[in-house]
Amino acid sequence: MYYDPVEALDRDSLEALQVERLKKTVANARKSPFYKERLKDFDLDEITRASDVEKLPFTTKDDLRSQYPYGMLTRPVDEFVRLHASSGTTGTPTAIFYTQRDIDRWADLMARSMYCCGCRRSDVLQNTSGYGLFTGGLGIHYGSERLGMLTIPAGAGNTKRQIKLIRDFNVTVLHIIPSFALYFAQRVREEGFDPAEMPWRIALIGAEPHSEEVRRKIEETMHIKCYNSYGMSELNGPGVAFECQHQKGMHVWEDAYIAEIIDPETGRPVPEGEVGELVMTTITREGMPLIRYRTRDLTRFIPGQCECGRTHRRIDRITGRADDMIILKGVNIYPMQVEQCLMAMPEVGHNYLIELFTEGVSDQLKVKVEIKDEYFVEDMRVLQGLQKKIAKTLCNEILLTPRVELVQHDSIPKSEGKAVRVVDNRRK
Ligand code: AMP
Ligand code: ZN
Repeated sequence: MYYDPVEALDRDSLEALQVERLKKTVANARKSPFYKERLKDFDLDEITRASDVEKLPFTTKDDLRSQYPYGMLTRPVDEFVRLHASSGTTGTPTAIFYTQRDIDRWADLMARSMYCCGCRRSDVLQNTSGYGLFTGGLGIHYGSERLGMLTIPAGAGNTKRQIKLIRDFNVTVLHIIPSFALYFAQRVREEGFDPAEMPWRIALIGAEPHSEEVRRKIEETMHIKCYNSYGMSELNGPGVAFECQHQKGMHVWEDAYIAEIIDPETGRPVPEGEVGELVMTTITREGMPLIRYRTRDLTRFIPGQCECGRTHRRIDRITGRADDMIILKGVNIYPMQVEQCLMAMPEVGHNYLIELFTEGVSDQLKVKVEIKDEYFVEDMRVLQGLQKKIAKTLCNEILLTPRVELVQHDSIPKSEGKAVRVVDNRRK
């Protein structure tokens, strides 16, 4: 039983569909200022198989930044109905635009994803993602409604109210990030309830890397089944790849995306089954198509067929990043954002260190900051004021409040060679 028969389409027909859609995508992409230039020498007749996508140039996040705000659009702005954006206020953000058809197709992919792991229209879904520019809010929301589930847009935080809503309205499906799920189970117990007696049965977890052990831990402590959900704003948001009930990797929806896994150094495809960088081409998006987008996420194709009968290939859980992006509590942070903020402050010296660690059940970020001698005064209140100011400035940029530790000039050990800016001591 599938949400859409295309999920079990035989591979030959699926490839034929991809070829047809890829050609349309290239022709359409050329209507945008960016691809008009980038693809000017490309001959559409070069595409006869899906793997011919390799003949096209890559698109990177820097390309998106350089085209901010409208350079990637294939049509006038008044034909768009939605915008999402990545975090970051000092660096140029990346903005993603959707036409009404793009929103509809995204909702369909999301509904399919949820159906695939066992959600049905009789379920009640509570979305604990923040709503706003993050796609985990509205993306999940629209998909859930499309499937016909009663949808509760609880948003992030306020666990006490979350628990009440879950109990009062018999929530059976939770959308929750893994790091919050571990904390949530503890809060449920603190409120005097037994997680085993909560009405939930399915958790859609994603947005940040997590191990199989963490999944099992959430399943055991919450008495729930967890399904891995993969996506990114550049590719719509969630609903790009999703686990089915067999929990053996995530099916990439290949009627909507052409997926490749490449060696991030050489740009060449890796041998089947080996880990590399996921590269994605959108083949159903009309407003802002992306060709060979470098996701920087590392994963591999899982060889063989899934027992569920779906023919769309599966990717393994994301094992890391090809760049230095940190994901903490579902929020993406680049060390460079922290650096830019700190270096713009007159009190800050040359060196800093970002430390990630686990405290209880939640992950934390601490920034050690060297302070120039003239500001490193004896008055505690002055220092505390400075500490708060740094925390607030960083929070405006990275959207999380870090712990800040002020240290004396030259006290952070210098590494030989490339500076070590991030120490990750999180419990894996
Ligand atoms: P955003 O564009 O803010 O939604 O962030 C997208 C990024 O979150 C991806 O490129 C991944 O690095 C990460 N991500 C999303 N889903 C997962 C997942 N299921 N497992 C691991 N990382 C994920
Ligand atoms: Zn499957």
